[in-house]
Amino acid sequence: MTVATTDASNSGDRKVAVVTGASSGIGAATAKVLAAQGYHVVIGARRVDRIDELAAEIDGTAIVLDVTDEQSVAAFVEQIPAVDVLVNNAGGAKGLATVAEADLDDWRWMWETNVLGTLRITKALLPKLIDSGDGLIVTISSIAAIEAYDNGAGYTTAKHAQAVLHRTLRPELLGKPVRLTEIQPGMVETEFSLVRFEGDAEKADKVYEGLTPLSADDVAEVIGFVASRPPHVNLDTILLMPRDQASARRNIKTG
Ligand code: NAP
Repeated sequence: MTVATTDASNSGDRKVAVVTGASSGIGAATAKVLAAQGYHVVIGARRVDRIDELAAEIDGTAIVLDVTDEQSVAAFVEQIPAVDVLVNNAGGAKGLATVAEADLDDWRWMWETNVLGTLRITKALLPKLIDSGDGLIVTISSIAAIEAYDNGAGYTTAKHAQAVLHRTLRPELLGKPVRLTEIQPGMVETEFSLVRFEGDAEKADKVYEGLTPLSADDVAEVIGFVASRPPHVNLDTILLMPRDQASARRNIKTG
């Protein structure tokens, strides 16, 4: 099913930004920031009611999207005639298990969503980003893309792989009018932990208890800064953490 609040081909004079995983958290906040900067924002996610509401609020276009499904990605892309900015944001974690106790289904979910999802969307939109004459790809990897931590290998391996895919594009696209920025957030309070702990709100809240995490808006503002640089300026990598966190493994609670 496709729900288009305004048609993606009806962007008028506005540049077009595509944000995946825009039904909550960083993606939703980014869609708002880019819309405020004058972009026609095309938002995709599986929860259509949420993206519909957001699209109405920002005068954008909501299109159902499951980045793990080839046909869904093809149908999504088909409805987007032109694109200037792509924000690869759809992703997340499932579980916190040691390698010895790894759940293969959780690993598959994380790899399908973060790695192959980013590949599918990027591959499909790349020709249009090049055609724009000033394309930008922002990929939300994570501090988990540069550090490993105990019980996190399903996620850290997926984020490392997603990030390497993104970084490989930088030299591959040299000479083409496309910039690439990798955003590596530390702790951001979103639905991330709720998804990781299968809807257990108590467990999710505990992650952010006793420290001040980043908000989705904090990250979105940085993405807005990236998108508003002139075409010759490429911000390659941005690592941002709350003051209360020093690395993936250390924060004011762990000491
Ligand atoms: P979130 O609130 O759970 O948002 C995740 C978004 O991804 C949702 O909109 C979800 O939408 C979408 N999504 C999940 N599976 C999808 C699929 N198969 N197809 C399309 N969309 C899908 O979490 P968040 O913190 O904003 O996460 C955004 C990105 O930031 C993720 O890549 C995450 O790994 C990364 N990140 C988060 C943190 C953190 O601490 N929160 C830190 C570093 C990096 P639907 O469920 O509606 O499809």
